Amino acid sequence: MRVHPVVLLLILCSLFLPTVATGASDPVMLDTESERYDLSLALSYLEDESGQLELEEVRELRQSGDFQGGQSEALNFGFTESAYWFHVQLEAGAPPDEAWVLESLYPIMDHLELYVVYPDGDIARYYSGDSVPFDQRSRDHQHINFEFTIEPGQTLDLYMRAETSGAVQMPMTLWTKDAFYNNDHVMGRVFGMYYGLILALAVYNLLIFLSIRDVNYLLYVAYIAAYGLFQASLNGFAFEFLWPDSPWWNNRSIAFTMGLGMVFIIGFSQSFLSLKTNAPRAHKLFSILMLAFMGIAATSLVLPYGPVIRVGTLLTAITAIAIFVVGMKCWLQDFKPARYFMISWTLLLMGMLVYTLKTFGLLPANFFTEFSIQIGSALEMIFLSMALADRIRLVTNENQRLQRVQNEELEKRVSERTLELEEANNKLKELNAIDGLTQLKNRDFFYETLDNEWRKNSRKDNHISLLLLDVDRFKEFNDDYGHLCGDACLKHLARVYEDSVSRAGDYVARYGGEEFAILLCHTTPEGAETVAERVRERVENTPLEWDGEQIPVTVSIGVSSHIPRPKEDMTLLIGEADQALYEAKAEGRNRVKVYSEPPSEPEK
Ligand code: GH3
Ligand code: MG
Ligand code: MG
Repeated sequence: MRVHPVVLLLILCSLFLPTVATGASDPVMLDTESERYDLSLALSYLEDESGQLELEEVRELRQSGDFQGGQSEALNFGFTESAYWFHVQLEAGAPPDEAWVLESLYPIMDHLELYVVYPDGDIARYYSGDSVPFDQRSRDHQHINFEFTIEPGQTLDLYMRAETSGAVQMPMTLWTKDAFYNNDHVMGRVFGMYYGLILALAVYNLLIFLSIRDVNYLLYVAYIAAYGLFQASLNGFAFEFLWPDSPWWNNRSIAFTMGLGMVFIIGFSQSFLSLKTNAPRAHKLFSILMLAFMGIAATSLVLPYGPVIRVGTLLTAITAIAIFVVGMKCWLQDFKPARYFMISWTLLLMGMLVYTLKTFGLLPANFFTEFSIQIGSALEMIFLSMALADRIRLVTNENQRLQRVQNEELEKRVSERTLELEEANNKLKELNAIDGLTQLKNRDFFYETLDNEWRKNSRKDNHISLLLLDVDRFKEFNDDYGHLCGDACLKHLARVYEDSVSRAGDYVARYGGEEFAILLCHTTPEGAETVAERVRERVENTPLEWDGEQIPVTVSIGVSSHIPRPKEDMTLLIGEADQALYEAKAEGRNRVKVYSEPPSEPEK
């Protein structure tokens, strides 16, 4: 719903403008059927600017035609300093009951006096109003009411004197006593539900606040509590149930609770819509409005009700529209929590608009229009409560999203670091696997590689072959040329070995001392023997150059080949190669020997 702000403002302001009415009114006939009469249109009235007139003077003024009437809706004199007198004549035919109640539907009237002038000249005076202690009322009821009797055939004159610091409004209903209580029975339940709902929402959300400590909840609870008190003051329930002996406070409670309620709803809107970031200028405006309403709440305790409530009402209308516009802006900015907020605020404004339209006769008077403010505000509070839950959900989702992003970032960094560490570790491992003298792989590496290859090939039909190479008479070599030369010889041999094998799956390692190992994967025994012979020849044909001298070197090589089987151990291969090497040495050195099974010994 979109209402142009100016239109709404005009409607709200016009509530406080006087109604022009002329002409005299006819007496009201009480027939046998009806139990309820709306006297609002039958009243004629007289303004008493001095406020000093007595009943007798007023009766004379009426005789001389000084009363006005003929209005088309309930009298409403706006804010006025004057006292007003009203008159209506009742003609009782054969009414269904003798007990009657005159009810004012405007519970915030300060002083309301009723004079019932009976045909025999008797005058009964009743005095009530919200500036008079509650127990002065004829009946305990949130509305001002007077109970009196009417006998069949009587013609009565009712004079009423109204004086209040607010607007003088005279929606008056005359009921038979029974009808009044039947109606009250229904109203009691409607309002009971309304205030029960507010109380439940306030308590429930207060508990939520206590558990999650989100200030939005506290502002919401403060708002609906103040708003509930404002409504209860407005329809007289607060005076009846909360402060029946405090007319002074009762006359200030409306403006005070209105100011307070507005302070809280503005604070709530600021915080809920995150205006500081979403609409900084609106945030400032709201802060100013909040101060203004604090001023209204404070001055309502010292200044007269009339001017305070007038300024307050005007500011409330402006604020209601400002909240609507700002909420809309936040929604359009894609600020998600604004969604439910706008729904609830629109419902409240709609309730107010419907009531205003009903008051102006543009909508029919029925249950929904009569209670549209209660219905609208109840829905508003329910939806605001939903809005709070929705906001928490959105905030939680956002937090979870941020947490996820953070975690992903963290995981990425961890895996980057892990990768770096792995690389460093691999480098370290490689360094650890290198023999310092020859720069070949060392014995540890050799074992690890052999173990891996052994297991890898244990289910395939591939041969793994091992060459163990040992320098011939190396002790003597050391003795003859010195250890430095011996070391140079080992380096020299390492290069020769490396250059002799080139396939993937061929590994050369220093096995220990002057012993080397060459591992040949996927190589048959014949192939291994060929390689061994080639290496032996190369060594023989490549003497070490030392000090300008050519020093011959030879090696003996033991060869062993196996197709690995899962249950067999790789040390088998080493043992057999060692055995073959031993035989090569024994047969005269500088030769290749392939391991062969010794002939099995005959059983004993
Ligand atoms: P054989 O032909 O029977 O193998 O005789 P050998 O003298 O070579 O005997 P053995 O294989 O037992 O020789 C081991 C010798 O190798 C002992 C040591 O003098 C020499 N040696 C072992 N490691 C090194 C090394 O790192 N540097 C040097 N210079 N000599 C080494
Ligand atoms: Mg040796
Ligand atoms: Mg040797």
